[in-house]
Amino acid sequence: MNLSKLLNKISGQLSKGNPDFRNPNGVYMKTMNFRRFDPAYRAQGKKGLERGGKLEGEIWNAFASDHHLLSETATAIRANVDVGLPIEPTSDTDKDFEAEEGRILTRVHLARERNQKLVQQKKLAVIKSTGKLACEVCLFEFEAAYGERGAGFIEVHHLKPIHTLLPGQKTTLGDLALLCSNCHRMVHARRPWFTIEQLREQLQN
Ligand SMILES: [Zn+2]
Ligand SMILES: [Zn+2]
Repeated sequence: MNLSKLLNKISGQLSKGNPDFRNPNGVYMKTMNFRRFDPAYRAQGKKGLERGGKLEGEIWNAFASDHHLLSETATAIRANVDVGLPIEPTSDTDKDFEAEEGRILTRVHLARERNQKLVQQKKLAVIKSTGKLACEVCLFEFEAAYGERGAGFIEVHHLKPIHTLLPGQKTTLGDLALLCSNCHRMVHARRPWFTIEQLREQLQN
């Protein structure tokens, strides 16, 4: 019942909200969809609901063996929903970027890396220390490639693991990395998201 209420609050914040979304019966069904992967449940000779989506298996695999990650993710989702989510990103590319931890924390991640005040501070700090705005993965510089048109342009990526994004926690400049648009998209292109190090390694190969 409590889970159903929480999920409805989330649904309300993610979209218009649908009165039939995950009512208590729906939560029970969903739980049974997950149970089909649960060895402890199967060991009791029970089966769970055999039919279900492919995503349930992916989620089970990502979290079943890591209770710490699961609990941190659940805490972060609840905490962010409690304070109200940032405005939904509207572009289609944003909708392609969904972390394993789901739409809610993805939305928090995107909002943090688009905080214009912090983005400006980050760019200024990097220009001050390096004299340029270069991608931290491929070293691309917009101004060098596009001249005046590219001056001051680069994207900012938030480095903190998505399950640790709690409301009220300050983003520091050290939590942000500068990436060109290609590298930023490649970080987010598939689940799980790449780290900067993983992307560098991928680019070298
Ligand atoms: Zn790059
Ligand atoms: Zn990002």
